[in-house]
Amino acid sequence: MKSYKQLLLANKAWSMELKEENPDFFKRQLNGQMPDFLWIGCSDSRVNPEQMTMTPPGGMFIHRNIANLVNEDDINLMSVLQYAVAVLQVKHVIICGHYGCGGIMAAYDGQVDGPVDIWLENARAVRENHSAEIYNAGDREAQVNRFVEVNVRDQLVKLAQTKTVQAAFAAGQPLALHGWVYDLRDGLIKPLMEIDARTRLETIGQPERVLL
Ligand SMILES: [Zn+2]
Repeated sequence: MKSYKQLLLANKAWSMELKEENPDFFKRQLNGQMPDFLWIGCSDSRVNPEQMTMTPPGGMFIHRNIANLVNEDDINLMSVLQYAVAVLQVKHVIICGHYGCGGIMAAYDGQVDGPVDIWLENARAVRENHSAEIYNAGDREAQVNRFVEVNVRDQLVKLAQTKTVQAAFAAGQPLALHGWVYDLRDGLIKPLMEIDARTRLETIGQPERVLL
């Protein structure tokens, strides 16, 4: 079992290593951040955006929640989005789901207890809206994984409809939204879809099924 002390030891080693490689690294961090990416992903401990894309500190603004859901009444995510797009002027917003997602499994199975149940309401709506698509995908695992893909699509469309993104598109700000899925089995990310200012949202179909 890993003790919390392990984290502090590892942190010291990490800091020392970076300083050895680049003595100005932390000094430069004080100048502020100019990330090109906002990442919206699942809180799952196996899905680490910076590690799996080899992004150094300063490269990515990050928001994570269970099942990578987008709600316009989620003041946490809406603040992150506003700051990233309007102030930091990120060029890309990525929503990345992942196969075998526990949040999506819970929404697939029905009710759970407590706040998670309320949180997953949005995901259950995706299941209802695409029930034929999901339930025809094969066995339970295949259905859950199809649900993961369709969920990324619906959350990406909701993201595109937010006031922040619409304002950036209208102002001609360079901004693209990307829907991706991460595969726990091989560590690879599969791009599903992309939305930019020219995309007509009503024409966006279901993503290709990429998990074989
Ligand atoms: Zn997940």
